[in-house]
Amino acid sequence: NEITREKIVADVKKENVRFLRLMFTDILGIIKNVEVPVSQIEKVLDGKMMFDGSSIEGFVRIHESDMYLKPDLETWLVFPWEVETTKSGRVARLICDIVNPDGSPFSGDPRTNLKRMMKEAKEMGFTSFNLGPEPEFFLFKLNENHEITENLNDRGGYFDLAPTDLAENCRRDIVLELEDLGFEIEASHHEVAPGQHEIDWKYADAVEACDNIQTFKLIVKTVARKYGLHATFMAKPLFGINGSGMHCNMSLFKGEKNAFYDESDERELSDTAYQFLAGLLHHAPAYTAITNPTVNSYKRLVPGYEAPVYIAWSGSNRTPMIRIPASRGLSTRLEVRSVDPTANPYLALAVMLKAGLDGVKNEWMPPEETCDNIYEMNDYELEEHGIRSLPTSLYSALKVLENDETIQSALGNHIYKNFYQSKMVEWDAYKASISQWEKDNYLHLY
Ligand code: ADP
Ligand code: GLU
Ligand code: MG
Ligand code: MG
Repeated sequence: NEITREKIVADVKKENVRFLRLMFTDILGIIKNVEVPVSQIEKVLDGKMMFDGSSIEGFVRIHESDMYLKPDLETWLVFPWEVETTKSGRVARLICDIVNPDGSPFSGDPRTNLKRMMKEAKEMGFTSFNLGPEPEFFLFKLNENHEITENLNDRGGYFDLAPTDLAENCRRDIVLELEDLGFEIEASHHEVAPGQHEIDWKYADAVEACDNIQTFKLIVKTVARKYGLHATFMAKPLFGINGSGMHCNMSLFKGEKNAFYDESDERELSDTAYQFLAGLLHHAPAYTAITNPTVNSYKRLVPGYEAPVYIAWSGSNRTPMIRIPASRGLSTRLEVRSVDPTANPYLALAVMLKAGLDGVKNEWMPPEETCDNIYEMNDYELEEHGIRSLPTSLYSALKVLENDETIQSALGNHIYKNFYQSKMVEWDAYKASISQWEKDNYLHLY
């Protein structure tokens, strides 16, 4: 399904496209876009659109600020809604790679960086690295001034139906919009916490799957607003109820074959699957800063809320960090459950791919499967089983990343340095703040 320049020009006429949105993702995972009137289409398709890179967090310094947007034609999409202006028309988007003025790929672009990692997988004989994400999110009510409140939109629970699940129509609308955009939606349901939802769609090769996550977030937020709701992908918005994860189902293919599947093994898993799993476990503490990149992310990784705390794996149990779902054949996959939706998907996939491939290269074997409920183990039992914990704060996660050159190399120097610096600033700001908990517990006591 190759999309040509001619098709794009024809679509613009046919669909009355007025604006082109050129999208990319910054290091922190935030979607950025430059919108231009459709008259600029030739310039856009020639990759001649320039923007000031110094205005984007962690991109470049002032004196080297001119960057170019090189559209990936395969990402061409006409949004299904009309623009809300006096003239009718539509908006279309193209996801772009960022290139330097001399035409070389920009090393600070997370999407380009993931392509670099994909090359490494290809050199090892794998043709695709598939991701099926399960992003969860909360819907909060907006007040009459369109400001975000802390009121959840419903009191529903897991797989509840209306009338408790007031968001049902909003979620349906999200699903319909996504289907119009070509998403193959596999499931859509209310999650365990009140006001919490999950929508899953069909897996795709890494770069496309990450593009889809970014598009998904945009659509969820846009549709929610029409219902007077704010959708948030924050990892743990409220104390005392589940947080939001983004489980990542992953597999490597060689051509049409799933390289994780081997029917002759007792679990029907290949050596590659075990080795990839071993790599994911080995490097887990180091890549957590990327998969769980906010101060708040670590408030989700606590016992009692279906989020992982320990670095372990299991074929059945849902408590460990990595689960191997029961499906085999083409659907054979590893599910990493620690990732949360605040992660920059391009960076998260780059580091997890690197970790897994390192296991394959070194032919590591994973430790024994954890079948017991790890939350019921005491410290002694955990140690006996060699079960380590995930980092417990953004600070400690950054410190482990600082000591793992393999994971750093999956980001490249530019992204690693800028990510680290920007996250340390975030941590320092948080560290100096005074929370409600501290006031509640110390003010009257001391
Ligand atoms: P759970 O068992 O956690 O509820 P779901 O069935 O909700 O999982 O999600 C399954 C996800 O895994 C979907 O996004 C699906 O497309 C994806 N998936 C299926 N097969 C593969 C595969 N071979 N590689 C990667 N992802 C896959
Ligand atoms: N919301 C849970 C989390 O924080 C996951 C629930 C589930 O298993 O889908 O990861
Ligand atoms: Mg879920
Ligand atoms: Mg899951």
